[in-house]
Amino acid sequence: MKGTNLMKGSEPDISNVHPSIKELLEVSSISLVILSRKGIVLYANPEAKELFGVNNEILGTDFEKLFFIDSVTDTKKLLKEALDRSSVQKEQILRIKHKENEAIWGVVKISTLKALLSESVLLCQIKNVSELKDYEEKIAWQSHLLLELINAIPNNVFIKNLKGEFLLANVFVSKLMGVDNPQMLLGKTDFDFHPKKLAKKYFKDEQEVIKTGKAKINIIEQVVESNNIRKWYSTSKFPLKNSEGEIIGIMGIGRDITTWVKEQKALRKAKIKAERADQLKSAFLANLSHEIRTPLNGILGFSQFLKQSIPKDDKDQKYIDYIIANGKQLLNQIIDIIDISKIDSGQFPIYKRNFVLNEIMLELKYSYIEKMRQLGLSDIKLHLEMDLVDKQSGIYGDNLRIKQVLSNFLNNALKFTHQGEIHFGYRLEKDNIRFFVRDTGIGISTENIRTIFERFRQVDFSLSRKYEGAGLGLAIADGIVKLFDGEIGANSELNKGSEFYFTIPFEKADLSAGSLKEESENRLKNKRILVVDDLESSYEQLEIILFQNEIEVWHAKNQNSFYESISNRANKVDVIILNMQTKWLKGCASIQKIKSINSRVPVLLITKELKNPHKEECMAAGADTYILEPVNHEKLINTLKTLIE
Ligand code: ADP
Repeated sequence: MKGTNLMKGSEPDISNVHPSIKELLEVSSISLVILSRKGIVLYANPEAKELFGVNNEILGTDFEKLFFIDSVTDTKKLLKEALDRSSVQKEQILRIKHKENEAIWGVVKISTLKALLSESVLLCQIKNVSELKDYEEKIAWQSHLLLELINAIPNNVFIKNLKGEFLLANVFVSKLMGVDNPQMLLGKTDFDFHPKKLAKKYFKDEQEVIKTGKAKINIIEQVVESNNIRKWYSTSKFPLKNSEGEIIGIMGIGRDITTWVKEQKALRKAKIKAERADQLKSAFLANLSHEIRTPLNGILGFSQFLKQSIPKDDKDQKYIDYIIANGKQLLNQIIDIIDISKIDSGQFPIYKRNFVLNEIMLELKYSYIEKMRQLGLSDIKLHLEMDLVDKQSGIYGDNLRIKQVLSNFLNNALKFTHQGEIHFGYRLEKDNIRFFVRDTGIGISTENIRTIFERFRQVDFSLSRKYEGAGLGLAIADGIVKLFDGEIGANSELNKGSEFYFTIPFEKADLSAGSLKEESENRLKNKRILVVDDLESSYEQLEIILFQNEIEVWHAKNQNSFYESISNRANKVDVIILNMQTKWLKGCASIQKIKSINSRVPVLLITKELKNPHKEECMAAGADTYILEPVNHEKLINTLKTLIE
């Protein structure tokens, strides 16, 4: 055995080994060491010397000394087992000293050789597994990092095999299941921890993911925790695939959404409550409008009646005028308060339609000329300015609301102007229509102009103020214009006058296939109108006009049919036309009856003379408008269109 130092003395003599065996030992790629039964190195092949990083000085060394201190116990055990034939020989991974201090991991196996020499010796085979050991350590480190990571995720994270058994879970899952650590879940299924019904549902979902290969995202799952507390989780489950792409289980992540679910429930409750409150508010508003308007209309009607029944020079006339004026003011204020509440609660109705703008403007002009005449405002001139010719003034919008805002401006202009002119109208500005009302009235200071659009704001707050009003008109106008995404504003100079304006987006009416005409015509189509008229000839004339416009006409020709109609049909008709010539009609009382059944149904009067006292009484009692006899076809239809929204 070339290059080896064979032991002498009390130890077995290795030089007696047959040369062919020696050769085998020398060429082996496994590190081989022969030890005496006392554990002294008798021989080390070149592979072993390289492993230990030594030469012949290894011979005669105590075998244990070739290992690091933490492996010595195991080395001794191995040696003992080898000497003790009854023990099953085992392999052991030990830390070997390479060049005294470097560590190499080796799988060490020791066996007894009986026939190699005259006395038995030990053969030690060592396989260098340092690389494997490094790899194993790396994997262990990575697994450790992975576990740390999934335990740090404040959600349930788990992996299950095809049978639904846990392969991995984090501490949140073990806590939920009521076990001390995630290891205790391995190999177990949901059926071991959850109520059967819930476990079945989880299993079904997971099997579906496995079958389809499609993830299930954010499934809402109910969970009963180990402490019997019910919780809600939002869980996502994904298919788990091996390197060949085969599905071998599922991965899941679940987030506790109990607080969110509770909040949602509370929100839903609050929403239902708010909606109910809103409905109550609407009902209250509708009732309020009905309950207050009806008696007020009555007061106004009877006051008018009283006024006519006492001599003109009676001093009581003054008091009655006072009742009428205040009653009307109160009625307008109630209507304003109802409007502002509806704007606030988002219940203010808006109906867009195709209409001819110039028609509306002219209607306003004539009704304000009439109003100014009634108020005796002969020192003021009213001018209308329009940018479009009639034919091109078809627009798409809410004609009633445009009229309402302009009326608010015009009412103020009349109220705050004592002489001069009021100009109103509209101009086209890029994509908008700009409506304006300009007066030569008392004007507003720069300081006050900023606040007048706020509700209840008035320039003169004193109790002894000259001008009546609740300070709601402009706030309502502001609310309405904002609903149309428009702008509202005012320019004014004290003692010179004011200009109030608002803009709305300019949307041309759809004129295709005469849709504007259609729209206007359609507004009356299939509407129901009750005509109260005891004169066959005048009724027939009305009936023909209404039929031509495809309006359904109901006729009340005597008192019985009138009462029968308004009791049973007042809520079903769109307009009631009252011919003032009808003998048995009790003007004011009839209107009150109608309005007490349906305060919303418009009442149109047909009267012979403008100054009919009976007409005034009915208007005060709540009639909406009137037209004069003989009835003009177009006038009737246009008036009906303004009454039917
Ligand atoms: P009011 O019912 O008091 O008229 P508005 O909201 O319509 O309520 O108007 C608020 C205030 O703005 C008025 O009280 C008045 O002081 C001022 N104002 C409105 N229009 C004019 C105007 N054309 N000229 C002068 N002041 C006006």
